Amino acid sequence: MDTKKIIFTRSEMLEFNRQTLLKRGVSLESIADIAYKQQKRYSDDVTFELCLESVEKILSFRDVFHHVQLAAEIDRLAEEKMFQGPIQDIIFEDFGLFGIDETMGLDVAGLYGTIGQTNFGDIDVNKAGIVKDLNEFGKDDKQCHTFLDDIVGAIAAAASTRVAQITNEDLAELDDEGHNLFKVSGE
Ligand code: MG
Repeated sequence: MDTKKIIFTRSEMLEFNRQTLLKRGVSLESIADIAYKQQKRYSDDVTFELCLESVEKILSFRDVFHHVQLAAEIDRLAEEKMFQGPIQDIIFEDFGLFGIDETMGLDVAGLYGTIGQTNFGDIDVNKAGIVKDLNEFGKDDKQCHTFLDDIVGAIAAAASTRVAQITNEDLAELDDEGHNLFKVSGE
């Protein structure tokens, strides 16, 4: 019987992703930090805890699991010079006109719609926090983060968008005087 395991539970996928990201130098807190700083521009009510919870939720999605695992492996294989032909140097050197890493990032951010993708564009262009670090480390002659910097930026963008949606849902439940419409007084 074939015993290869390809289906995982959401908590297993989150744990795999956490370990894989850590191995590549990325903590979940550093991703949450980008989401936090992005949303803080729009609302003072944003909490770091909600950003971290959002990062964890997104990292448990099967699509995202596949993206993180694949991106980390492509970068590792490029570091070990395992690709044949021109694609080895194109990936390792993070060639500016190579856009497949951004395509993967857009795909992940797109789980949270157009706003998710717009937030990803902002993070990709302005390179904050761990995305900036990955980009810098990737210039080292031993490291490659061509794919992971986009996936990490996209997870931050998706988390940021989720936080905005939750914050707006909370706002929508308030009446003009700031009382929660759905709570009976004393509850
Ligand atoms: Mg990249």
